[in-house]
Amino acid sequence: MLGATGSIGASTLDVVARHPGRFQVFALTAHRSADALLGLCLRHAPRFAVLSGLPEDAALRRRFAEAGCGSELLFGAQALAQVAADSACDVLMAAIVGAAGLAPTLAGARAGKRVLLANKEALVMAGPFFMRAVRECGATLLPIDSEHNAVFQCLPQGARHPGGASPAVRRVLLTASGGPFRSVPLERLPGVTPDEACAHPNWVMGRKISVDSATMMNKGLEVIEARWLFDIAPERIEVLIHPQSIVHSLVEYVDGSVIAQLSNPDMRVPIAHALGFPERIESGASPLDLPAIGALSFARPEPARFPCLELAYAALREGGTAPATLNAANEVAVAAFLEGKLRFTAIPQAIEHALRAVPAAPAGDLDAVLDADRRARRAAGEGVAALMGRAA
Ligand code: NAD
Ligand code: MG
Repeated sequence: MLGATGSIGASTLDVVARHPGRFQVFALTAHRSADALLGLCLRHAPRFAVLSGLPEDAALRRRFAEAGCGSELLFGAQALAQVAADSACDVLMAAIVGAAGLAPTLAGARAGKRVLLANKEALVMAGPFFMRAVRECGATLLPIDSEHNAVFQCLPQGARHPGGASPAVRRVLLTASGGPFRSVPLERLPGVTPDEACAHPNWVMGRKISVDSATMMNKGLEVIEARWLFDIAPERIEVLIHPQSIVHSLVEYVDGSVIAQLSNPDMRVPIAHALGFPERIESGASPLDLPAIGALSFARPEPARFPCLELAYAALREGGTAPATLNAANEVAVAAFLEGKLRFTAIPQAIEHALRAVPAAPAGDLDAVLDADRRARRAAGEGVAALMGRAA
């Protein structure tokens, strides 16, 4: 489990703990939060624990050894790919946030694992060759992102494996809650705070993806993710605002039928679906009470409110390394916003700056993508510096 101390990590461990005997935890990773990782190790007794953001530390290693959880502690980013590809485990939960998830998730795909993909950034950055690795190495890719998990469940029998788009599918409709600022007056947006942006109306998530939901860059990244997962052209992927977050996405067929997947907004639903697939297992989510919800509504997103969505479509159409640039610039801009250095409405401006400064190149391998990622971070940093403190 890559990213075990995060929000998806917690939901996954909750589902796993409901099925003793069915799953055994092989490795848990965290970036720097040693205390949180040790707590999880004491509960789940994995063979390995990884702190990817820390150098070798003998005292910490001793602490884990003396705690009696039986987990061997490894350090550094290399250890992520090592545990992800280890032949002793068959399922990889890829739940690191951001570009850092790409290399170890790819290592798991290349080792032919069942990969449960929460780390959408891996597909945004490296869609074509990530999917090639999945096919060529016999991996099974199951989407955890609630929208993509919904689409996967709505696709026709026989074409249920991501990468197998059916000619019977006319459109994929990805739903979006619209986030906390869906109906805030536009002139208030420049002044919104990080805590307001992270207060998502329906989902409890990590801070980065919460800001992405407020800008709707999250949906933009998900359009790119869907393009590669389901091998579907960008113009056949549409975004619908659905404030209740009950319909997680829909697939429209050429005969006019539309199939949707519904549940309460609880990430344990897609996680349990992927962990149990093709069987159905208990997730712990409460049953859906439609009469209590009463009404479900849908609307088109307003382009002026959510410029990040169009930036993502544009990067997808441009192709090559443009989505990797978009993703890296977004990470830099969101981090600057969370640190109080950048206004909310300057996030898309910093991303546009990077997209202009780093021309798209072919994205044939990991090196090309990581090079674009580095250049985009530098350019976005310059963009942030130029935009800091500037009135909106
Ligand atoms: P989070 O911030 O709660 O947790 C992130 C995890 O990644 C933590 O375990 C952290 O230690 C680890 N991590 C952070 N930086 C790292 C680095 N540089 N190297 C290695 N590990 C690092 O994030 P989250 O909300 O759980 O999201 C995880 C992924 O799942 C993201 O890609 C997100 O887009 C996706 N996702 C999340 C949700 C959700 O409901 N939270 C829904 C759909 C998709
Ligand atoms: Mg999602």
